Amino acid sequence: MAKILITSGPTRQYLDPVRYLTNGSSGVMGSALAQAALQAGHQVVMVSGPVRVRYPSGVKLLEVETTQEMLEACLAEFPNCDGLIGAAAPCDYQPAAVAAQKLKKTGEPLLLKLIETPDIVATLGKKKRLNQWTVGFALESEDARFQAIGKLQRKLCDLVVVNGVGAINSPHNEIEILNPAGEVVLAASGTKQKLAKQIIRVLDEQLLGPRSKTASATPSARPRKPQARI
Ligand code: C5P
Repeated sequence: MAKILITSGPTRQYLDPVRYLTNGSSGVMGSALAQAALQAGHQVVMVSGPVRVRYPSGVKLLEVETTQEMLEACLAEFPNCDGLIGAAAPCDYQPAAVAAQKLKKTGEPLLLKLIETPDIVATLGKKKRLNQWTVGFALESEDARFQAIGKLQRKLCDLVVVNGVGAINSPHNEIEILNPAGEVVLAASGTKQKLAKQIIRVLDEQLLGPRSKTASATPSARPRKPQARI
């Protein structure tokens, strides 16, 4: 039995009081993961951006809008959790300035300056204490395994779930789970509900069981060279 923090859904980054940048993340995968975790006997804390999907009633739900708010909620909850599943698609960029009033049309092009938002999985990866773990998702359109293992290393994840662009706003997904050695510990496709159960089973075996089964990436671990093609 573990207490699992799950991030889910998109975030919004405002340009002015009414307009924002976002993405098409539906929260379906996060919801399916929460359901599967509860069914496996775990406790779940969800930190979610704005979504239509319903989360299971058994979770503690924290609703946020921006990537910064998602980070702050996670920083507050992570110390009391055993691990994190980063299933959210937080906006990677935010406008450098947010206009206080609605932007007016001028007849000229509007140039936006965007700056990076904080990376939640990477921030929590650096804060892991002994036996805490983090699992990231990587949505890749090319060179999926290579890109994903790079993300696992940069963000100090213990496992990474790789999926393709078809995952966005779809009931189905096709995934691989990679460990820090670059090994594929699961390859599967199907509904997000079916895949969520398989993902939680892998976490139970690899991260919640004897930790010796995975070469866990801790903040002090030196990043290994990705095994380019597996
Ligand atoms: O956007 P990217 O493909 O790098 O996302 C990979 C992982 O990092 C996902 O688990 C996602 O939830 C997480 N992420 C995050 N904070 C961000 C961007 C991504 O936690 N600002």
